[in-house]
Amino acid sequence: MAIAGIIPVAKGLAKIKQRSDVSCRLCKRTREQRGTSTENLPEETYGHINSAFCDGMATTVTAAHHFIWKHLYASMQVAQAPASKLRFVTPDKESSMSTLWQEEEFKQICSRKLLTEKAADIEKMIAVKEHERKPYDIDPAMFGENRFGNRRPDGIVINRNHQTLFILEFKRSSDRNENFQKIKEDEANKQHKSIIKSLKAAAQDWTIEQINFVAGKRGVIVEDDFYNKLEKLNVQAGKKDKILLAYVQRICEAHDKVMRSYYQQIHGSSGADATTSIENLKGQVYVQITHNLFVISC
Ligand SMILES: [Zn+2]
Repeated sequence: MAIAGIIPVAKGLAKIKQRSDVSCRLCKRTREQRGTSTENLPEETYGHINSAFCDGMATTVTAAHHFIWKHLYASMQVAQAPASKLRFVTPDKESSMSTLWQEEEFKQICSRKLLTEKAADIEKMIAVKEHERKPYDIDPAMFGENRFGNRRPDGIVINRNHQTLFILEFKRSSDRNENFQKIKEDEANKQHKSIIKSLKAAAQDWTIEQINFVAGKRGVIVEDDFYNKLEKLNVQAGKKDKILLAYVQRICEAHDKVMRSYYQQIHGSSGADATTSIENLKGQVYVQITHNLFVISC
């Protein structure tokens, strides 16, 4: 259904006149529970419920991101070519710039003080978002330092011998548009511009590079690009196919988990047949959708 573009979200149901209100039911419910305003709700589209912008789906979507990325990161690490001198830093948790630069290994790349100074110049040039306004108004200099300190790449890979540092970012993306890889990569590069520029300025002997992995939510991967990135990260040539297969499998499983969470929240907790078991949920949900489709196609 995701591939055919017929997931019965409110927007889709409205299109075929099965629903009049297109606003997101999950955002509405979450806001009601929080006691916040339900004015200006976002539209319940497939893209919306697959994003962290949906209040009802944010936790699941973030978990889906980690579920895929942790596995890929670990796979690349264990498949290193024997001569590789790459070190994959903190594969089990994301670390912020401020916590990383408390460690000796990072201080040897450049001092924390120099990095903070360079970052201050760069953070000044980056627009302050609306939700960041208050801390910025109180102390603009401190704001820049804190914002930089809180930046978290998804991974960092270091080759001390060659003085190379890779900043890794993983993104789940819509894969409807042919250019999805380029669009998400631009987004990821913009997100870490401050880290890359500050490091280049503070550690001038080092080569600093960002590598982005973009996974289409429905399992679309740009294969050549993926293989090139594995090669850059010294993954053994013979293990690339297996890694790609497992990666795509994981992406599809994550999509499945996200969709189940969505259906469970929309349909799972009401009525006498309500069930919270995933196994039962599958049957129940699919019957429900088939029924809807049947009615629609009539
Ligand atoms: Zn929502």
